[in-house]
Amino acid sequence: MNAASERGVVPAGVLMPYAASTEVSRGRRHAESSPLYRSEYQRDRDRIVHSGAFRRLEYKTQVFVNHEGDMFRTRLTHSVEVAQIARSAARALGLNEDLIEAIALAHDLGHTPFGHAGQDALNRCMKDYGGFEHNLQSLRVVDELEERYAEFDGLNLTYETREGILKHCSMAHAGALGELGERFLHKRQPGLEAQLANLADEIAYNNHDVDDGLRSGLITVEQLNEVALFAEQYREVMAAYPALAQRRLLHEVVRRMINAQVTDLVETSRAAIATAAPRSIEEVRSAPAPLIGFSGGMRTRLLDLKRFLREELYQHYRVRRMTAKADRVVGNLFDAFMKDAHLLPPDYQRKIAQVSGDVQNIAARARVVADYVAGMTDRYAIGEYERLFDPARLT
Ligand code: MG
Repeated sequence: MNAASERGVVPAGVLMPYAASTEVSRGRRHAESSPLYRSEYQRDRDRIVHSGAFRRLEYKTQVFVNHEGDMFRTRLTHSVEVAQIARSAARALGLNEDLIEAIALAHDLGHTPFGHAGQDALNRCMKDYGGFEHNLQSLRVVDELEERYAEFDGLNLTYETREGILKHCSMAHAGALGELGERFLHKRQPGLEAQLANLADEIAYNNHDVDDGLRSGLITVEQLNEVALFAEQYREVMAAYPALAQRRLLHEVVRRMINAQVTDLVETSRAAIATAAPRSIEEVRSAPAPLIGFSGGMRTRLLDLKRFLREELYQHYRVRRMTAKADRVVGNLFDAFMKDAHLLPPDYQRKIAQVSGDVQNIAARARVVADYVAGMTDRYAIGEYERLFDPARLT
């Protein structure tokens, strides 16, 4: 017995009965013949990688705006990190790696420019027209907005990938989402791959925000040593390598933080799965609570880290200045396009013309404008803002 199997790690490529698989998939909205050399979830992943929205993630940001520096995470590198963490944990638990990779790479496709500031601004603009949720927008991108296939709008992904993309959703929206919204109305769970992708996202952003925050100089090691999750690893690395250069030391600490969280997640989840003993993905869905999760001790530590990041990094005055600017850019673009649809590019003017007969005329028009603004990268949004509002800019 090798070390991996002693720890209960499932051998690579083995799917447990509670994993998602092509055989038990609820399929696609538009029927298609099966791929020849790939699984259905590989096909989903490939469609996502080839989408326009995926390429735009390179120029969209989380906390730091794209042009602030080349060293910071973008939504693209974040999504790749989420996929890496999710796949490692999925393999250890015998879950479907292809599916979880598809979910991870697609989970942020609906994000606006400028991270959460952009999302909040757009949500405010859309207050009277059904609101704006980036998570719901990710689903809208893969279900409707991508125009790449002759036979259907969107990417026509499998139910399981779409289920994983829709992490949360208000009751009002759930009612309009048919089969996909039912779990929110009936308090059911998504499959384990969806549950795991969600927490891999959390692990990725908490740790890379520590890393980017330190690199930017907005937060310091002294401050972070007040946070247990960081301090524990920092002490260990300092004790083992007292002469290590600061930069390398911090990478080692962040690496160990990620490792501690993934290990805790895998072990806690494995125990919960063993106790509930689901025999199929349907039994996972009807379980009273999610089976993928952190231990109580890790949850407390993570809450502490999140509180720290919220207070010290996301509210830092230099971040606040950028988010205030982002808010103005998104708000002003939305208002300008709502007032005069002729300022929109021809594609979007055509979409507006198509919905102008709609009884919910203004709400439908606002949705088209929101789709346009949400699809922008940070730099494209700044360019549009300059083209519309900067008197010195002529083209
Ligand atoms: Mg994310």
